Amino acid sequence: MRLNVLFDHSTQGGYPYGVYHANDNTADAVNYNRNSDYRRNVLSAGMNWLYRGNAFRFNAQTSFQHSNDKQHIDQDFTPQDLFFVTTQLKQTLVSQEFTLRSADIQGRYHWIVGAFGFYQKANNSVETQFITRSLATPKYYNNPTWAAALYHQSTYDLTKSTHIAVGGLSRLTEALTQSVGESNIILGAKEVVVTPMNGQWQVSYKTATGETISLCSQHVITTVGAYALKTMLPFVEEADMAAISALRYAPIIQVSVGLSDAHGVENKAFGGLIPTCEKQPFLGILFPSACFSQRCPTAGALYSFFIGGTNHIEMFDKTDAELQQMVCKGLTTMLGLPANVQPDMIRIFRHERAIPQYELSSGARFEAVNRIEQAYKGLIIGGNLRDGIGMADRIRQAVAMGLQIK
Ligand SMILES: Cc1cc2nc3c(=O)[nH]c(=O)nc-3n(C[C@H](O)[C@H](O)[C@H](O)COP(=O)(O)OP(=O)(O)OC[C@H]3O[C@@H](n4cnc5c(N)ncnc54)[C@H](O)[C@@H]3O)c2cc1C
Repeated sequence: MRLNVLFDHSTQGGYPYGVYHANDNTADAVNYNRNSDYRRNVLSAGMNWLYRGNAFRFNAQTSFQHSNDKQHIDQDFTPQDLFFVTTQLKQTLVSQEFTLRSADIQGRYHWIVGAFGFYQKANNSVETQFITRSLATPKYYNNPTWAAALYHQSTYDLTKSTHIAVGGLSRLTEALTQSVGESNIILGAKEVVVTPMNGQWQVSYKTATGETISLCSQHVITTVGAYALKTMLPFVEEADMAAISALRYAPIIQVSVGLSDAHGVENKAFGGLIPTCEKQPFLGILFPSACFSQRCPTAGALYSFFIGGTNHIEMFDKTDAELQQMVCKGLTTMLGLPANVQPDMIRIFRHERAIPQYELSSGARFEAVNRIEQAYKGLIIGGNLRDGIGMADRIRQAVAMGLQIK
């Protein structure tokens, strides 16, 4: 349940107008005899009830707002006592919404039903006083408005949805950092060891300065690669850990190549994978500048060459110079750039354990993970050793793990 109440009061003196003379485009100084001002009181309140069940979620949102405005103006804007205007507006608004929606975010069918209603009362009065004639002309307006609606929406996703992080993946990590709070994130932690302790978990690690820190928690989620779990979870049965550690990772070298002039060669695509029968030294080439803005100068291009994999482990032994030569040749043979083209930027990233290989041993690994999680409550083993290897799998897994500990 969430309740917000806000009261706002404002008092302003006002209306510094002088008489304007159109013939010589001049205005007199501000000079009038009656006090002019504006006062307003606003009270806003909102109450929200949310129930999260396994089958549905229910939300009730109630809002209330009352405002009271009063305005006094010396309407002649001169030192003479001629006209004075008082305006008042009182507004009251009440609204209520109920929504019931499916809780299943993994499935393809989603539904929502809801009811919404509001009532608004607006009382407005304007009174002009003609002082010299001892006459006033008050006018009163009363405008009630209300509306009600019932609604329902059913959605069935025919295909798996495709997502793209506009601006690139860094937008996702930026948003996550903002949500988690930068001060709650520890980077560069070394020698991380997790230990069960009196129904809770102790996590100890070494900071960059060599200091040892220990944390205590109800839950621990790991997303490190399978190769790192043996040292991190030393209490796990040897047979279970062996089933996890057996996971092989393909090594991949990524070479980023930037050109300030792409000589008119345009690749309007995400990139491509290269079949073995092509007998090329590359697994694939991606075109980041075709998908994301600000990756290169307007006439240029940014490419990402992927080299290696389980069938070409020997590529990992190539020197930087050899890889550069290979990629420069590929710019011509694979992408059709002129033979003499020279990249303006080349960066090489060697990912020793890049892509986990879901081989026949995977079933035993998944079973071992389940056994460990059953035996040690509060421990969740995630990451790319289970639930798929791509980014979309990681995001789906992260949502499921978040809901699991909520
Ligand atoms: C070159 C390359 C290109 C890719 N392109 C795509 C793509 O286009 N689309 C897509 O869907 N997927 C892509 N992937 C796959 C995607 O990167 C992975 O699915 C995803 O990064 C896996 O996330 P993860 O958190 O499970 O593992 P990782 O990203 O590998 O993260 C594991 C983390 O654990 C840390 N770690 C390891 N050991 C320890 C330890 N002992 N203590 C503390 N920390 C430790 C590592 O430093 C690392 O940061 C690509 C992968 C590679 C290598």
